[in-house]
Amino acid sequence: MRLLAAWMTIALAAAAAADRPVEAARTAYLMGTRVTLVARAAGRELATENLESLLQSLEQSEALLSTWRIDTTLGRLNAASPGEPLALDPGLCTTFQKLTSWHERTGGAFDPAVGPLVDAWGIERDPRVPSDAEIRSLLPASRLSAWQFDPVGCTVTRPPRGRLDSGGFGKGAAFDAAVRLRLPADGWLIDLGGQVGAHGQGPFGGWRVGIADPRRRDREAFAVRLITGSLATSGGSERDRRAGVRRIGHILDPRSGQPAPFDGSVVVWHEEGFAADVLSTALYVMGPEAGLRWADREQIAAVYLIRHNNELVIRSSRGWTERVRVGRAIYTGVSGMGRL
Ligand code: ADP
Ligand code: MG
Repeated sequence: MRLLAAWMTIALAAAAAADRPVEAARTAYLMGTRVTLVARAAGRELATENLESLLQSLEQSEALLSTWRIDTTLGRLNAASPGEPLALDPGLCTTFQKLTSWHERTGGAFDPAVGPLVDAWGIERDPRVPSDAEIRSLLPASRLSAWQFDPVGCTVTRPPRGRLDSGGFGKGAAFDAAVRLRLPADGWLIDLGGQVGAHGQGPFGGWRVGIADPRRRDREAFAVRLITGSLATSGGSERDRRAGVRRIGHILDPRSGQPAPFDGSVVVWHEEGFAADVLSTALYVMGPEAGLRWADREQIAAVYLIRHNNELVIRSSRGWTERVRVGRAIYTGVSGMGRL
């Protein structure tokens, strides 16, 4: 009898192992960053096929939105003759509507039209400090309101010198496009460097995502378990540059034309990748004081990692704490969350 029971246990374990999804992973270089993809499916072949589909979807998003390359749809929009209305396809028309609405909702802290200012500060190339006069002269062309957008006819008109920058929303949009594939997978995760998105069932019902300590980015401040949706982080990063002794952050306050002074980081969770991406950038610009007030009012799940002397202070919005506590969308896995 005992033997039979032992045999049954082994048989069950084998059945469980056979049922357990297979995980496939790969890395690629896309959107100016290293991307990691993981897919879980019933068999190796399906998991690998899913990885391939995810990668193709990311490549398509890059071809549409990336401003890291010039041969993209957005790149062509940025090269359009000023003053001439251009027709947008339905997808880009919806993107424009969302950009306009987040720009307004964040009081202008998020502005995808900051391109001319990003260039003036040399954020993507050689950092430099533009003069006040230069910044003043660029401000009018660096606002979304300078782009005439007609949501009914779906046309947009580029202002002279105007350049849209997808740095603050492209990764989030790419994640949402991948979700729309509705892959037959047990679950998948995409890490776009600064933005992580998960869909479906992860290992142990969620995916462990480490949040970097802004004082030393190779160190983890805490970790969360991501079940669904996307976590976007905006913060001092390898993309911050120096001009002499001055640090030039890669996120600008579009209202002043100056780099946002906050030097910690902010993480936002949202079911929609686009919103998480936009919001982490906007909350970085607002800084912890104004940002937490705004996030509470707007019921946004956000957490700031603030450097104070040499300490790390963690402050979260109500939306974040509630989610962590009730454990619906994100729940705590690991160290450090006790401090929230
Ligand atoms: P990361 O580049 O690390 O993903 P973000 O998602 O916060 O960080 O996006 C920052 C990028 O967005 C900048 O590198 C720049 O290209 C662009 N950007 C800078 N300031 C703003 C802003 N206020 N609103 C929208 N986009 C911005
Ligand atoms: Mg962002």
